[in-house]
Amino acid sequence: MKTLNDFDFKDKKALIRVDFNVPLNEQFEVTDATRIVSAKPTIIKILEDGGSCILMSHLGRPKGFQDEFSLKHIAGKVEEILGVEVKFVADCIGDEVEAAANSIEPGQVLLLENLRFYKEETAGDKAFAEKLSKLGDIYVNDAFGTAHRAHASTTIVAQFFEGKKCFGSLLAQEIESIQKVMETGEKPVLAILGGAKVSSKITIIENILDKVDHLIIGGGMAFTFVKAQGGKIGNSICEDDKMPLALEILEQAKAKNVQVHIPIDTIAADAFSNDANKQVVDINAIPDGWEGVDAGPKSIEAFDKVVKESKTILWNGPLGVFEMESFANGTIELGNSIAEATKNGAFSLVGGGDSVAAVKQFGFENKVSYVSTGGGAMLESLEGKTLPGIAAILE
Ligand code: AMP
Repeated sequence: MKTLNDFDFKDKKALIRVDFNVPLNEQFEVTDATRIVSAKPTIIKILEDGGSCILMSHLGRPKGFQDEFSLKHIAGKVEEILGVEVKFVADCIGDEVEAAANSIEPGQVLLLENLRFYKEETAGDKAFAEKLSKLGDIYVNDAFGTAHRAHASTTIVAQFFEGKKCFGSLLAQEIESIQKVMETGEKPVLAILGGAKVSSKITIIENILDKVDHLIIGGGMAFTFVKAQGGKIGNSICEDDKMPLALEILEQAKAKNVQVHIPIDTIAADAFSNDANKQVVDINAIPDGWEGVDAGPKSIEAFDKVVKESKTILWNGPLGVFEMESFANGTIELGNSIAEATKNGAFSLVGGGDSVAAVKQFGFENKVSYVSTGGGAMLESLEGKTLPGIAAILE
């Protein structure tokens, strides 16, 4: 796996695919700069080597050139975070861009305009990728968030940099974290899958059964398993058509010696609302008119025990409707358990969709080993897929 350390960037122009797809408010100010901050180590390392950086990214989903999606809005923020002057060029291919790229000096940074102003980007167009490739000497992919897309700048462009392409430090960290869980993790390995739907996690569960010793199934998706086993779940969220699959997964887990932990009790609410009445009930005996919205105290205790016995922990998906304060407790308690296990030496990876939001919201970000920056890319990695953006560097 080639990383930044395999190259000397002195007097070289690095063409770096970053993920600067950051949220903007109505004044076009960056409201969450995490992705820019995450790309900083790669950029600074190259500049310190004596190289220059040409940054390319997408922003949103524009249809052709649309000013509101221009990366010019974030150039100031990038400059502030890097602490280095950032030049901006109002296109990403063509003569003007090539001239700008040719004229940057070691230690300088050039930010290109939104790649997705060209439909060729998402189409993975080879001619477009070749034009991009003219801008740099070494291609660096540091955009995990788009590594699952075979777009021109994330994948196709790499073929024009044979022997001159590598992962940036963010992407390398993402790959290493996933490997730690899926391949090299110290046992016992635990995966915690929560969230709303079984259907969106099926492939992950099937893939992960070969990798883990323990599997916690929590959140809304647990009710499909509970009902499939004959439990009474009241109005809880459930995918009836996935019940046979749930039973099959439990059988597969048994055959593979994976211990599956399903909630024992739940906080049931009489409405899907923060001010609903609530009561603790057995997971198999939820009264009619009530729905399970959070993990109950016995479940929290049982999960805490499994977490603390594990040496490698993957967490994807909340244990309850954490967006509502009344039902966030199970997710917060699980975060506390994982934080403590991490403090005691376990490796913990949080990734994919809402668990990242929960981890940030409740302040666990710095208490787990790694928080993934890529939602879809993370989910596809957990499904066992080779991401095209990663494969293109390895080729
Ligand atoms: P996912 O994107 O699949 O990880 O699902 C995350 C969503 O699952 C969050 O919006 C949670 O509110 C929701 N969720 C978690 N537990 C439950 C539950 N018991 N009932 C309904 N929704 C839930």
